[in-house]
Amino acid sequence: MENILTISNISKRYGKIHAVSDLSLEVKRGQVFGILGPNGSGKTTTLSVILELIRANSGSFQWFGQTPDKESRKRIGSVIESPNFFPYLTPVINLKIVADIKNIGYDDIERVLNLTGLFDRRNSRFKTFSFGMKQRLAVASALLGNPEVLILDEPTNGLDPQGIAYIRELILLIASQGITIIIASHLLDEVQKICSHVAVLSSGKKLFDGQVREVLAISDSFDLAATNIELLVNTVKFHPSFRSVITNAEKIQVFFKDHVSPEELNRFFIHHDVILTHLSERKRSLEQHFLELLNNNK
Ligand code: ATP
Repeated sequence: MENILTISNISKRYGKIHAVSDLSLEVKRGQVFGILGPNGSGKTTTLSVILELIRANSGSFQWFGQTPDKESRKRIGSVIESPNFFPYLTPVINLKIVADIKNIGYDDIERVLNLTGLFDRRNSRFKTFSFGMKQRLAVASALLGNPEVLILDEPTNGLDPQGIAYIRELILLIASQGITIIIASHLLDEVQKICSHVAVLSSGKKLFDGQVREVLAISDSFDLAATNIELLVNTVKFHPSFRSVITNAEKIQVFFKDHVSPEELNRFFIHHDVILTHLSERKRSLEQHFLELLNNNK
């Protein structure tokens, strides 16, 4: 599939702070790509570099397989800062001003207002909008001119649950129209709900990337014991879903690649003539899993 964005070994320092270190990424057409990481992990810096708002110290990036230029910039829409429009003007007038700045006609305004659910409020002043509606207008403005890529930085920050749900649905709707979306978020849950692909950042470094369902797959683990621990360890390694094992004197903790039920595991050991003296399942929340991934890679 066509590469929309290719980032090659980008680094950005602010004095002694390494905001982004040697970051490489590829975003392909049609993906909803999440850049996931805690506060200060370099998400906004990365987006600012690829939008040419700041310059990296080293590394390079390409949009649509080419060095960025005036034409490629027109194919990208973005919402990086909190929504800022003229408070006493209506969304229609505000969008006309944006269209003038983008040097495009006004015929797309009705479409983006409809898409973001603001058409009915097209004649209200911006200052009467809720924060959620302001955020939607920012998305509408980024979509003016029908860009192929939409970049959003923490699009649900500060919204109430209803506003969050609305923006997430809107992102999925926009993605379903074939627009590639790049979204920075510190919310694992958000990335899981809306992204197809993810890169996880910590302290400016990429820890891993890939398809969301692979990268964030939860692997259950089991605590097991048997009279002969050595035999237990040797046997469990033959389980088709075996991933890894932590061995202690009296117990072992086993991780599996896929979901394994306690019944199935018990049957597996009986089949191999190993009698368990202990079996308990450990289920981790996704948050725990994410934190573990971050901690393991520090
Ligand atoms: P957040 O979600 O809090 O915005 P982030 O993942 O987007 O975090 P960045 O804003 O990219 O992270 O910041 C990465 C690091 O660079 C942080 O340590 C931050 O303090 C630092 N940083 C960012 N911008 C500047 C700046 N203009 N001057 C100095 N340091 C900066």
